[in-house]
Amino acid sequence: MSRTFLGMPGAAPRSGDEGFPERAAKALRDSQLRFNLRKATRTIRARRAGVVAELPDWAELRRAGKEIKDHTLRHLDTYLIQLEEAVTKAGGHVHWAADAAEANRIVAGIVKATGETEVVKVKSMATQEIGLNEALLAEGVTAYETDLAELIVQLGDDWPSHILVPAIHRNRSEIREIFTRRMAGWGRPAPEDLSDDPAALAEAARLHLRERFLSTRVAISGANFAVAETGTLVVLESEGNGRMCLTLPETLITVLGIEKLVPTWRDLEVFLQLLPRSSTGERMNPYTSMWTGATEGQEFHLVLLDNGRTGVLADEVGRQALRCIRCSACLNVCPVYERVGGHAYGSVYPGPIGAILTPQLRGMGSELDRSLPYASSLCGACYEVCPVAIDIPSVLVELRGKGRHHLAERTGMAAAGWVLERSGRLARMQRLGGRLRKLAPGRLPGPLGGWTDTRDLPPIPEESFRDWWNRTDGGRR
Ligand code: SF4
Repeated sequence: MSRTFLGMPGAAPRSGDEGFPERAAKALRDSQLRFNLRKATRTIRARRAGVVAELPDWAELRRAGKEIKDHTLRHLDTYLIQLEEAVTKAGGHVHWAADAAEANRIVAGIVKATGETEVVKVKSMATQEIGLNEALLAEGVTAYETDLAELIVQLGDDWPSHILVPAIHRNRSEIREIFTRRMAGWGRPAPEDLSDDPAALAEAARLHLRERFLSTRVAISGANFAVAETGTLVVLESEGNGRMCLTLPETLITVLGIEKLVPTWRDLEVFLQLLPRSSTGERMNPYTSMWTGATEGQEFHLVLLDNGRTGVLADEVGRQALRCIRCSACLNVCPVYERVGGHAYGSVYPGPIGAILTPQLRGMGSELDRSLPYASSLCGACYEVCPVAIDIPSVLVELRGKGRHHLAERTGMAAAGWVLERSGRLARMQRLGGRLRKLAPGRLPGPLGGWTDTRDLPPIPEESFRDWWNRTDGGRR
């Protein structure tokens, strides 16, 4: 069991610190992956489009979602304090974590204080971001994922590849093989005659997980929203595993990214319409669990996680990424994501949102994080579907400007800046270019050659437009 991958991609594979292009090239060679992705994203896309079209006020809802999030982020300090007071008043314990290491230390400390060595988990991107499962394992605590797709990923020693459907890259025969091979090592084995019928696979997971729910005393969750005025946490899910985790164990620990706040219950109403339609393409998700502080027979801890978010908040253009409600609509419409899948992004946040959020949270120190803003064709489909109107293409362009550029590119830009600075200098350079035009190569030299592999260099004209205008008085002579 110790060889099994327990965590999620804070620890995603980053072999040799490869950039996105190299990782994408590898993914593109997997035709099964491309087939699975195309089928799944097209289905979800069509479902979303159908239910969104039903709402005549979708544009207003979207604007409201954007404005509520922007307002909350502007006054985040006030709302976080309000949330802390409300949760504490309702019997919960609130902890503040500046980074992943501190959050992991806090959670591990709470679990160890209970004397337990096993925890069940509700699907949570925040805990994946901080590598909580690995941190707990290092402290002798095993974390069991209970969302069906996360279970498939965990049993398969794999990494999630989609925000909403983490096992989107697996088909049902692969899932049957994983269950048959691995379930016995984790608890109740899969039935011997398990078929790849989706109902049979779901039943095998249900029986396996039920034993886990009934025997585990500590649960860890994330949350989709937190209502500052009442201290209420909200989890939206489809399988009921979240409800079991949130209600059965004696200790509940929730790790919450600080951007997940909404000020009031009234604000929640907007997001409970936006999120299910944008994510699963449903009018309403099957399970919505809400709780405020500790409930009878259960201790509750809330860990408020920063981990780079206040840094993102300081960036005027980039901060809009914090509006994200993790619906995954931008992944499902992205032509790049549809072809390469989530693993190529090397982050817990794949697709267009990952391309803008990950480099801001992690910084752009690695080849991978510097290349993520280029993992887009800038077609704008992500912006169109985003329920909180995050202008992902603009943030991508902004981040591209911040990355470390190739020496040749920097030299070229500096030279262009010098020439364009003065009109006389530009005219002289144009005349010189016209005289030397026969010597101009058809292809750019050195590392810039890639640009001309698929493009023709435009020929240099003999005479510039400016000289032609002066010579002919605008064509009148
Ligand atoms: S960026 Fe927008 S579309 Fe993408 S996951 Fe976040 S909220 Fe959804």
